[in-house]
Amino acid sequence: MAAFGSLSTRLTETLAKLRSKGKLTASDVDGTVREIRRALLDADVALEVVKSFTAAIRERALGAEVSEALNPAQQVVKIVNDELVGILGGETRRLELAKQPPTVIMLAGLQGAGKTTLAGKLAKHLAGQGHTPLLVASDLQRPNAVTQLQVVGGQAGVPVFAPEPGNGVGDPVRVARDGVAEARRRQHDVVIVDTAGRLGVDAEMMQQAASIRKAVQPDEVLFVIDAMIGQDAVATARAFQEGVDFTGVVLTKLDGDARGGAALSIRGVTGKPILFASTGEGLDDFEAFHPDRMASRILD
Ligand code: GDP
Repeated sequence: MAAFGSLSTRLTETLAKLRSKGKLTASDVDGTVREIRRALLDADVALEVVKSFTAAIRERALGAEVSEALNPAQQVVKIVNDELVGILGGETRRLELAKQPPTVIMLAGLQGAGKTTLAGKLAKHLAGQGHTPLLVASDLQRPNAVTQLQVVGGQAGVPVFAPEPGNGVGDPVRVARDGVAEARRRQHDVVIVDTAGRLGVDAEMMQQAASIRKAVQPDEVLFVIDAMIGQDAVATARAFQEGVDFTGVVLTKLDGDARGGAALSIRGVTGKPILFASTGEGLDDFEAFHPDRMASRILD
């Protein structure tokens, strides 16, 4: 993953230095932990996450974790891997489908985070699994958002519910509610509601998202976040957690080569699982997020 490229290089180089050592001293462990800490901070991982992560590594590496099968360097690699899996969420968390269809999925996040693109990706992914999604265009803020959703819907082969043209600006809450009613009527088993974002956290946007949430009672509220926004990721995630109380996270633009470490902090600071990763502009540039696989890729 390009977004974690330099973090990955730094961690693997740090851990490789231990390989030549037959036995690790406390000062070897301290030196390694210091380098890991610096690599994480340079990659924009939030300080509170770095602190707990490095404290856990230090404690476990110094502790009596003796495995016959692994040499000391391998043990530290294993510990770092385990802890990385932990900050990324541990278990893979799948999309929760409603027992009684339709499953309602609402997308929330800042403008440009990749929500509309994600709506198309998710719709295509679910259609490929035999579901019959309906996309709902509740982003009436950005002039082109409805058309953009219609374009990605067309590419995904999934219908789009949109406000009638010529009806003025329209009410996004009503569009969301009508869209879900339409899905019920036409027996779509999944509804994906795209909502409006702003360039920064904004009270009116949050209010609107909260109203849509209340109106459609989604099974999942996915907070979509651009992995490239750096340190702002944590404050943004907190604001959305408070404003719309999302159920899961989607990291986008992991193909970018910016420092993606902030994205690694989201789970740690919100306690909410990461469900998907988006890795490009195309509808197939999308995958389920597996903490263990991501950790192995970072330490590869
Ligand atoms: P929205 O405002 O949240 O609906 O964001 P959009 O879906 O319109 O995405 C904003 C821009 O980011 C568009 O140009 C997308 O093509 C692009 N984009 C979305 N997801 C990704 C991704 O995973 N990687 C890259 N490189 N670009 C993406």
